[in-house]
Amino acid sequence: MNTDTRPPAAAAPPIRATVYVGRWPEIPAGDWPDVPSGTFSPTTATLISGPTEAVLIDAQYLEDDVRDLGDLIERTGKQLTTIYVTHAHADHYLGIGPLMERFPDAKCVALPHVVEAMKESMELQQQQWAMLFGDACVVSDALPDPIDDNTLYVDGSPLNIVEVKQADIHPTTIVHIPEIDVVVAGDSIYNEIHPMLGLSTPEEWQDWLETVDLVEKLAPKVIVAGHRRPDGDDHAVDSMIAETRSYIQDFAAAYEVADDAEDLVRIMSAKYPGHGNLWTLQFSAMNAIQLRDAGSTATDIRP
Ligand SMILES: [Zn+2]
Repeated sequence: MNTDTRPPAAAAPPIRATVYVGRWPEIPAGDWPDVPSGTFSPTTATLISGPTEAVLIDAQYLEDDVRDLGDLIERTGKQLTTIYVTHAHADHYLGIGPLMERFPDAKCVALPHVVEAMKESMELQQQQWAMLFGDACVVSDALPDPIDDNTLYVDGSPLNIVEVKQADIHPTTIVHIPEIDVVVAGDSIYNEIHPMLGLSTPEEWQDWLETVDLVEKLAPKVIVAGHRRPDGDDHAVDSMIAETRSYIQDFAAAYEVADDAEDLVRIMSAKYPGHGNLWTLQFSAMNAIQLRDAGSTATDIRP
């Protein structure tokens, strides 16, 4: 006797995750002498699609990437119902303006905390991003609507928003999609890219480690890191978790003993020679050492 009560697979086509990886742009440091030149990490956006609907998680920031991402969404033929923003960093949300114009039926949402953080930091980030990327960058002051419900749906399948204590900044979130064992990690997990540790304090780095533990406990088969190489492997879950954890621990230890920012860069790049985007490490080291040597407190470096 057949006791399997599940519907046949054909009756419930699975949802799926498609990852768009943005460009790896040059940073012309220009007239901001404290900011090194280099490149900015490739940034991901994730499209979760079902038989008829799609939800986009994060929205890119370069004009060309936002256009290409929109083309990709259009080519799926699915109805984009929702754009979700994981956290208040412009590399993840500037594209919502053009995308909302292009897909007027889609709503754009984020948790209330995150919307507040976007409002507080938007003007500064617009200046910073214009300085970093000039005309290549989207100019927009669009904001998501705050939502209290932590679940989004794609054709009835749940996408669970989890607010975590800390990633590169806080407030910040990840999205867990249990049906396909995917975690869209925002900037809580990095994939072969130097993590951004220059916007948080040593205490917050410990909180970040708790977030890494939380992602590990969800036991995903796929993690979409907010930043990864164009050829990065989203299935390399174990190494992503292990390396993000060890990197934060190693950076926290090196920060205590490094002579200066250059020394911290030297120590970390020797430990992680395969990690991309040295600029992020240089930026993190500069800010962290400035904070250490000034004996500053957490509030001094909040964006
Ligand atoms: Zn980011």
